[in-house]
Amino acid sequence: MNTRAFRPESLMMSYGYKPELSEGAMKCPIFQTSTFVFRTAEEGKAFFELAYGLRERGEKEEIGLIYSRLNNPDLEILENRLTLWDGAEDCAVFESGMSAISTALFEFLEPGDTLLYSHPLYGGTAHFITEVLTKFGIKVQAFDAGEDEAAIMADIAATGGRVAMIYVETPANPTNVLIDLRRLRNIADRLSTPEKRVLVAVDNTYLGPLFQHPLHLGADLVLYSATKYIGGHSDVIAGACLGSRQLIARVKTLRTFLGNMAAPWTGWLLMRSLETLKPRMELQADNAQKIARYLATHPMVAAVSYPGLLEESDGEQYLIYKTQCVGPGAMISFDVQGGETEAFRFLNSLKLIKLAVSLGSTESLVQHPATMTHAGVPQEEKTAMGINGSLVRLSVGVENADDLIWDIGQALEQIREKTSAGQTTGSLAVAGV
Ligand SMILES: *Cc1c(COP(=O)(O)O)cnc(C)c1O
Repeated sequence: MNTRAFRPESLMMSYGYKPELSEGAMKCPIFQTSTFVFRTAEEGKAFFELAYGLRERGEKEEIGLIYSRLNNPDLEILENRLTLWDGAEDCAVFESGMSAISTALFEFLEPGDTLLYSHPLYGGTAHFITEVLTKFGIKVQAFDAGEDEAAIMADIAATGGRVAMIYVETPANPTNVLIDLRRLRNIADRLSTPEKRVLVAVDNTYLGPLFQHPLHLGADLVLYSATKYIGGHSDVIAGACLGSRQLIARVKTLRTFLGNMAAPWTGWLLMRSLETLKPRMELQADNAQKIARYLATHPMVAAVSYPGLLEESDGEQYLIYKTQCVGPGAMISFDVQGGETEAFRFLNSLKLIKLAVSLGSTESLVQHPATMTHAGVPQEEKTAMGINGSLVRLSVGVENADDLIWDIGQALEQIREKTSAGQTTGSLAVAGV
């Protein structure tokens, strides 16, 4: 047979776009239009019948364009391209990661249901779960990223919650703790009834869409802040939700009524970004691997957390990494020797790496979780999770790896110099200074 299943990276420039429908334009134009003209009244009627689910779609019938809150070529082509990486049947794109997450949670949870979620989660998601969902009569229950199946089942039995969804982030932000998705599927199956399947939803922003594919590991829904790797240039806010045709149809219906779909310009920017997704993410991961190795041997660094540093001696975390992830990603967390003062001295001394939250972009970004992204987490929880004053989170970009290592090295030297000029600390004694 003279056909071939092309890899996603080969299809990112063309998939789902027909030049003949756009005056032969090589690139998909920005369809900056709110509404679409029907050729005939009959066609308009047929489009609405499908949009409202009044009848089944015919064999060769295409879903017609009606109005840009429902669909738009920039949105649909982008969604089709995004499905390729995760092997999803369908995708819904949103104006932010938070709108993708909040819409999916609202669609699949009802008053009286329990949402079981991993801890720590992205701050915005954690706030939405504990402060917003609970106002609608949804019960919420957390488990620690490292907790085993028996402990999670015992917690659920103790509260007697009717679990409808398990929601996780793996690797966890900022600790990089990995959660076994196959085990979660197992828990979800044990809690499912013949009438109701317990859904597993995974925020795959940290490793996806290149290095982890939760739908292949038993998840029902994958969520993204497309602001991060998918956008990849720190210039657009967007989000996505992927899964089966049936589940995404429900997500898209709620999106139609909340009106939080991505606009044409956002769709166009993300399509442009997707063309370089693979080379960007691969280079970022290569750079991160080099930096993580450098940090691990540096005397001013107390500890480094990065999936690419896991070894057999790390036991279960190593096994999860080997069976679940295709690559290590580009997010590194590390503790400098000392505390907040030393961490701040490091952050303030960087010359190339920028001090900003967000991640996954072409430029390297660094931030201080304890006082920035995780400032809202109660102190005892921060301590339990290892989010200490000494912890720094680094998102590695596409710069030259040696330049990044030089920058990190000279900033770490600033801690050493300032500290030796002042009092000697216990950690410095360990570091042999
Ligand atoms: C940034 C982020 C979000 C929120 O996405 P926005 O695009 O900022 O709305 C959700 N989850 C994770 C893991 C993130 O990093």
